[in-house]
Amino acid sequence: MEKKSNYLFETEAIRTQMERSSFAEHSTPIHLTSSFVFEDAEDMRASFAEEKERNIYSRFSNPNTSEFIQKVVQMEGAEDGVSFASGMGAVFATFATLLNAGDHILSSRAVFGSTHALFTKYFPKWDIATTYFAVDALEELETLLQPNTRCIYVESPTNPGVDILDLEVIGKFAKKHGLIFLVDNCFATPYLQQPIAFGADLVIHSATKLMDGQGRVLGGITVGKKELIREVYLFARNTGGSLSPFNAWVLSKSLETLAVRVDRHCENALQLAQKLEEHPKVNWVKYPFLKSHPQHQLALKQMKLGGNIISFELTGGLDAGRKFINAIQMCSRSANLGDSRSIITHPASTTHSKLTEEERNEVGISLGMIRLSVGLEHPQDIWNDIMTALDA
Ligand SMILES: *Cc1c(COP(=O)(O)O)cnc(C)c1O
Repeated sequence: MEKKSNYLFETEAIRTQMERSSFAEHSTPIHLTSSFVFEDAEDMRASFAEEKERNIYSRFSNPNTSEFIQKVVQMEGAEDGVSFASGMGAVFATFATLLNAGDHILSSRAVFGSTHALFTKYFPKWDIATTYFAVDALEELETLLQPNTRCIYVESPTNPGVDILDLEVIGKFAKKHGLIFLVDNCFATPYLQQPIAFGADLVIHSATKLMDGQGRVLGGITVGKKELIREVYLFARNTGGSLSPFNAWVLSKSLETLAVRVDRHCENALQLAQKLEEHPKVNWVKYPFLKSHPQHQLALKQMKLGGNIISFELTGGLDAGRKFINAIQMCSRSANLGDSRSIITHPASTTHSKLTEEERNEVGISLGMIRLSVGLEHPQDIWNDIMTALDA
């Protein structure tokens, strides 16, 4: 890696670059190689003994993954990081590293579906238990602590309810009780929110979303405290969920434009949220930078802008939700989010269809609720598409 400096966020995202090869390329090339060669026996010995920092095998490290990691580390204000083949690869490896049989996790109920599956379906096999807390009940945290509680885990903003959790309050709680504080910062990106400043020990991302931002590749990353990352790294390199150099190259290039893209995503989203709020067929709209959002002040405190996800409820319930999805012409009906293309989903009939009514309420999903991932198309075209579908 070229020497770091005190550049600001946007500059770091562009000027953090691996060393040039003898070809003096301006833009980073892709290093598609599974292994690296040694000079002699001594070079080999010293490399394996980690007496020198160098690449050995691409499951351990690669120049492209190192560049991607270095950028995210700087953006999040972290000490070190590990990259993964997907966001879930990062979530799983991080927990698997930190936890032992018999440990207990405190987690916000509003977590990504596959994370919920880890907590409820797989971790119990290894005697790891999880207790959920509601996003608006942080004052109850104390009562949920157990002697074996090891860590506390949150996402903010949440999916798909777009609730905001107070990271500073949770950071203080974690510190007081000696818990490891983990944040899935995927919806905010490090451009809008840096959880380490509020006390997070580790920050996890699905780089598949706004980091790539163009719906091309899967990727994941965990960054944070050096000693914890060291353990996560060793777990990752032995278990093999490594990020491919090609995907790392795509992601590192994407980060060069993260700030400008996310600025525009947020500008479009705020405009659309304001328009939706005035539409007669919409009961409510939830967007962190709308004054009507229940945690608006908190969002202003811990986020630079409101993000690109809006949730809103149609007046006609489940049936209206399905009709609306069918009437949409331009926005994509797709499971992804954080793409340059706007994407709509109807959680009650898809991602969250197996939840009971009570469970749905806990994560802020109603039958007529729509989740909109606002893209980078002209906001007038996105609005025309939504308005036409609302009137259909
Ligand atoms: C998508 C997502 C994940 C999982 O990431 P993948 O790259 O799909 O494995 C985890 N957390 C959140 C909040 C997500 O949106």
